[in-house]
Amino acid sequence: MRLINHQPMLISNAGYANQGVHIPSPNVDARPAHEVSLIVIHNISLPPSQYGGNGIVELFTNQLNPDEHPYYAEIYTRKVSAHFLIRRDGHLIQFVSCLQRAWHAGQSNWQGRERCNDFSVGIELEGSDFEAFELAQYETLKNLITALKLAYPITAITGHSDIAPGRKTDPGDFLTGQKLLLKALNAHDKNNKYFVFMALFSIFPLRLRRKRCR
Ligand SMILES: [Zn+2]
Repeated sequence: MRLINHQPMLISNAGYANQGVHIPSPNVDARPAHEVSLIVIHNISLPPSQYGGNGIVELFTNQLNPDEHPYYAEIYTRKVSAHFLIRRDGHLIQFVSCLQRAWHAGQSNWQGRERCNDFSVGIELEGSDFEAFELAQYETLKNLITALKLAYPITAITGHSDIAPGRKTDPGDFLTGQKLLLKALNAHDKNNKYFVFMALFSIFPLRLRRKRCR
């Protein structure tokens, strides 16, 4: 059962959330201009579409075992990280301080600006392009985004596929919910209720559909 933390999420001066656990990633370096203005949302699951294992943590800490899964053998040498991972149960893991550059976006372009890692915070949702995220993940995402907006001059929230089109497909457009959700996230804070509504809206149609298929 998930424990509900009633304390508001905050980002410390050192760039760490006051909730979840910190697992340092070696795949990190300095932000060239100390700028934190964009949030990039991703999805990841290791092995693909399997949830709850240690694969993501192992990848971000360069400890993935290539013998454990054929896909691991393909990717285990990649040096990648993200600032945050939100697991299926809403649990938050932080790998990199928001003040530092995580290696999540790769070759990317946001409104004419290249190298989005320089000025963005990367948030991975444990999931895939083909499955709705859990409500607990939306709750944590909402709290994290609120905290990030409070700490930094965030100007926009986007998906990895929007800054690396043709190369990346995450976080996946699990129906129109994803686009609408990003729109809601980009709206002002007074729309927090709208956010939760959109999260519900984007989950339940999929759940109903899955049941009907059985
Ligand atoms: Zn991604």
